Amino acid sequence: MPPITREMLRDYIHEALPDDQQASVEKALRDQPAVQALFNQVRQQEDRGEHSIGAIWRRERLSCPTREQLGGFLLQAIDPDLSDYIEFHLKTIGCPSCTANLEDLAKKQVETDEPKKRHKRIVQSSAGILKNAAGT
Ligand SMILES: [Zn+2]
Repeated sequence: MPPITREMLRDYIHEALPDDQQASVEKALRDQPAVQALFNQVRQQEDRGEHSIGAIWRRERLSCPTREQLGGFLLQAIDPDLSDYIEFHLKTIGCPSCTANLEDLAKKQVETDEPKKRHKRIVQSSAGILKNAAGT
């Protein structure tokens, strides 16, 4: 019988092994204390992994932020939760398309002197809110 590897044990936990291997891992777990010890290590790792933000991200398949959200992220004009998520998406996940998108947006912002425009937009939108509140 081939030696039981970490990879096999991980697949065993996820029931991803072919039936015959699943059975031989089971047998090894009963008969070999060394395999049991390794199994416990792998299981602990997997438990931790399930709760890591990376695993959650993969599980939930959270999608890429929109270009608008990336723009807001650059200007720090978005919800802190969303900002955290985007930072995680870029730095931890290292999404190549969003990184490219963000670089592109950053370049454009420098070119168009964005802060002035942003200020104007914020003033306009709060004026709109105030008008609506007064009208009702
Ligand atoms: Zn992305």
